Amino acid sequence: MKVIIIGAGLIGVSTAYFLSRQGHEVAVFDRREAAGMDTSFANGGMLTPSQSEPWNQPGIFWKALGWLGHENSPFLVRPQALLSMFGWGLSFLRNSNRQRFFRNMQKNARLASYSLQVLRELRQTHALHYDENTNGTIKIFTDKRSFMEIVERAGLYTELGIAYQVLDRTEVLNLEPSLTTLGSAIQGGIYYPDDESGDAHKFCQSLAQQAQQQGVQFHNQVEVEGFEYTPNHVTSITTSTGSYTADVYVLAAGSYSTLLAKTVGLNLPVRPIKGYSLTIDISGRGQDSGPRIPVVDESMHIAMVPLGSRLRVAGTAELSGYDLKLRQSRIENMYRHVTWIYPDLVKARDGGSILEWTGLRPYTSDGVPVIGKTPFENLYLNTGHGHLGWSMAAGSGKLVSDMICGSPPALNPAPYRLGR
Ligand SMILES: Cc1cc2nc3c(=O)[nH]c(=O)nc-3n(C[C@H](O)[C@H](O)[C@H](O)COP(=O)(O)OP(=O)(O)OC[C@H]3O[C@@H](n4cnc5c(N)ncnc54)[C@H](O)[C@@H]3O)c2cc1C
Repeated sequence: MKVIIIGAGLIGVSTAYFLSRQGHEVAVFDRREAAGMDTSFANGGMLTPSQSEPWNQPGIFWKALGWLGHENSPFLVRPQALLSMFGWGLSFLRNSNRQRFFRNMQKNARLASYSLQVLRELRQTHALHYDENTNGTIKIFTDKRSFMEIVERAGLYTELGIAYQVLDRTEVLNLEPSLTTLGSAIQGGIYYPDDESGDAHKFCQSLAQQAQQQGVQFHNQVEVEGFEYTPNHVTSITTSTGSYTADVYVLAAGSYSTLLAKTVGLNLPVRPIKGYSLTIDISGRGQDSGPRIPVVDESMHIAMVPLGSRLRVAGTAELSGYDLKLRQSRIENMYRHVTWIYPDLVKARDGGSILEWTGLRPYTSDGVPVIGKTPFENLYLNTGHGHLGWSMAAGSGKLVSDMICGSPPALNPAPYRLGR
């Protein structure tokens, strides 16, 4: 079977890899110069079934109201985005009731745990190098109430099969001594020993290389403009270099999947949520090199993740449509945060060596990705992975590949279908 995949991010590349391994002829189209150059380029690097909570947690409406207009808030809504986000926003709020939130968290946790298992198998099969780290992650709390809330619902992690340890301040500092500067500000923490981390971009390139060796063709720097179709069948894609035909098509274009799906009249519940990251070279820094284990500060939605000789600081959420401008105020928040914890870490800032980056998380209104069939018999979706695209990439690629091939999937795909 001939398959066309739109998008060479983490999701498109892993889908291509598994389809080609099952013997299919696969072509991947992307407008960028190589794989993993868009949202998969400089994300937080964490592989975290432990962070399966959708962002529309119960109470998000009141929190978001309080954050309105504050440039230093973890979740910022810009007025220009309101109109295009209106229907999506209502559904986002509707999904923040307790029952739906926990159901959606379960769906994410299942897929992320499955994905980690698939990733570990991949690591055994191929020499994939991506600054991988299997030390787990720690979530720290500087706000007592948020800490107590998470401790109260920690039993859920057991139900989901996610190992965790609740830590007091001393235990946090014993596990990650580099946090000493925070001292008494730390109210507690949770350690998730089974989480992993690594550079998503390096992984994406490494897996793309492997896929290419298996025969996958990458058509880089080709803009996909839309689809040609009959009432229930896609006949081709139209691109900046002409039309291309296949038996099956997979849409894995991240936040832009929504725009491409519109060309066949499909309304996807996926919108961009912007985030930022800094990548700091910490080679030769000795004591000043940041944490050994990825640390997530829950109150600020900011993570600090060691990636080999670099430290990635990533986070914040901003609803501002498809705007990719690097807003200095948001970047400054991240510098302030990292300097608060590691006062000597960003010395080299003036040398211009720090990579400042922004990307758009493809976020669904219920916080769960959209995977599987569409009303078109030969068009599949693999998108909307939000803040968990790296955590879910390997599993999502395998799941869609199994669905297309008619192999029994290891995970029930129904919770991820469009229109669930
Ligand atoms: C700041 C930040 C931190 C994050 N941290 C984490 C984390 O720690 N852990 C985690 O699991 N996830 C994290 N994420 C989320 C994760 O990065 C995304 O979910 C993931 O990268 C999405 O992958 P994707 O393949 O769907 O999209 P993308 O990587 O955006 O790939 C889509 C591809 O489609 C191409 N494309 C789009 N439109 C067209 C078109 N018309 N024609 C041709 N090509 C097109 C693009 O060029 C792109 O290469 C983070 C995201 C951000 C922004």
